[in-house]
Amino acid sequence: SATIDVPMLKMLNDREMPAIALGTYLGFDKGGAVTSKDKQLRNVVMQAIDLGYRHFDTAAIYNTEAEVGEAIRMKIDEGVIKREDVFLTTKLWNTHHKREQVAVAMKETLNKTGLDYVDLFLMHWPIALNEDYSHSNTDYLETWRAMEEMVKLGYTKSIGLSNFNKLQVATVLQECTIKPVALQIEVHPQIIQEDLISYAKDEGIIVMGYSPFGSLVKRFGMDLPGPKMDDPVLTSLAKKYDKTPAQIVLRWLVDRKVVPIPKTVSPKRLLENINIFDFKLKEEEIEKINQFNSNTRYTLPSFWQKHPFYPFDMVPNPIPDPFRSEIKS
Ligand code: NDP
Repeated sequence: SATIDVPMLKMLNDREMPAIALGTYLGFDKGGAVTSKDKQLRNVVMQAIDLGYRHFDTAAIYNTEAEVGEAIRMKIDEGVIKREDVFLTTKLWNTHHKREQVAVAMKETLNKTGLDYVDLFLMHWPIALNEDYSHSNTDYLETWRAMEEMVKLGYTKSIGLSNFNKLQVATVLQECTIKPVALQIEVHPQIIQEDLISYAKDEGIIVMGYSPFGSLVKRFGMDLPGPKMDDPVLTSLAKKYDKTPAQIVLRWLVDRKVVPIPKTVSPKRLLENINIFDFKLKEEEIEKINQFNSNTRYTLPSFWQKHPFYPFDMVPNPIPDPFRSEIKS
């Protein structure tokens, strides 16, 4: 079967990033991040590589680094790819923001993946936590300096940020010796992130968009407000281009120079989600999808909003901290 050729985007350190990444976060339950049964995720990542995916998004907190790494190593062993043909993004968790903890976390990530280096190491949040999940005042600039060390030691090729607001990105840019090449944030038709995306673009930072399907798919087992798969704007574009509404939304991200990170464990949807590089939306079509914006976040850890580096707007009734109850119970 033919594989899809994914375009590459040039980063400000002159390295290249594949224009779409496969998400590998499988959700959260009482025991922590969900891991897959019978190597389901490993097999999905291997199928993804066969289809043309060259970029995978994981994180220490997802508990999927080992399976993603194993899939990459098996495809290298099969001779399907070389290490330099794949791009692995992972993230530092909030409990490892202190200078000496960053190196420990980085080495643990490399151990889990079984790889000599990762391509992109992101600070998952600007928020530092202690081991018991109480708030830590460790400044993200201290964390950033330690991440710069990881580049110098060759453990990661590039470093970047996730869930930082504009002011926080600006602060890192002002103080850094190595610039963040990427900013991973929530982007979908319900939160189009015009301001942060244009700021990042001006600084040469590539934006990666998480939860790209927004309200098109069920979240937390619920139908949430916002456009669905049967939305007339999306279905008419889908009909015009002979694509699905899901593909239209992914292409809307690509056309805005955002790297979408769709997650799927279905072989059929794996192909569907990467098969978006043979058409292009017109400016007015992009604008039409932009009209869905309501600045709705699905990742809203309001239980951290008293933290000095909480990145988002405050909300009136913060929900309890699900992570902390994991630890305490
Ligand atoms: P997505 O928008 O990728 O939605 C995933 C859901 O959509 C799954 O239920 C999946 O089900 C379904 N789906 C996938 N493709 C299709 C399709 N073509 N048609 C219909 N349904 C489809 O949301 P996520 O929140 O999972 O985000 C994606 C990735 O972004 C994560 O896996 C993670 O890597 C990253 N992320 C990063 C965050 C951060 O803080 N930096 C926060 C949240 C996510 P199925 O698997 O059955 O296909």
